[in-house]
Amino acid sequence: MSKIEQTLSIIKPDAVERKLEGEIKEMFKNNGFVILKEKKIQIEKNEAEKFYKVHEAKPFYNDLCDYLSSGPIVVMVLEKENAVLGNRNLMGATNPKDAKEGTIRKKYGISIDKNSVHGSDSVENAKIEIDFFFSN
Ligand code: UDP
Ligand code: MG
Repeated sequence: MSKIEQTLSIIKPDAVERKLEGEIKEMFKNNGFVILKEKKIQIEKNEAEKFYKVHEAKPFYNDLCDYLSSGPIVVMVLEKENAVLGNRNLMGATNPKDAKEGTIRKKYGISIDKNSVHGSDSVENAKIEIDFFFSN
């Protein structure tokens, strides 16, 4: 049975700054994802804090929120079969040093904080995150 899903992807400030938007979108398309919606925006720190609320107790939370709001990002809704897991696999490990060959983070990530992309980690969170950015 096919399980078409949608997931939220963000091209983070380090990648937008290095003009990698086009190359990263090609990787999604080459891996069968359809980009249903997309917008380039810059968010305020308080919005980043809301988006990453799940991490609020972590030592990296403040820097993470400063970083996500530090420059333009590209926010996308991606669709394909098993999109949530498929996107996590295509992104690679959180730390680019641990990411496998052929993944976005291996190819473009600079460090654990500047790791070029965000992707939802579950179908449930994908719905919440898509709503966060695309519910007008
Ligand atoms: N992060 C960080 N330091 C860490 C762990 C995570 O700066 O030690 C940042 C990193 O940018 C990561 C984000 O926090 O992408 C969210 O962390 P998570 O564990 O959810 O990783 P992801 O789901 O992005 O792979
Ligand atoms: Mg995560």
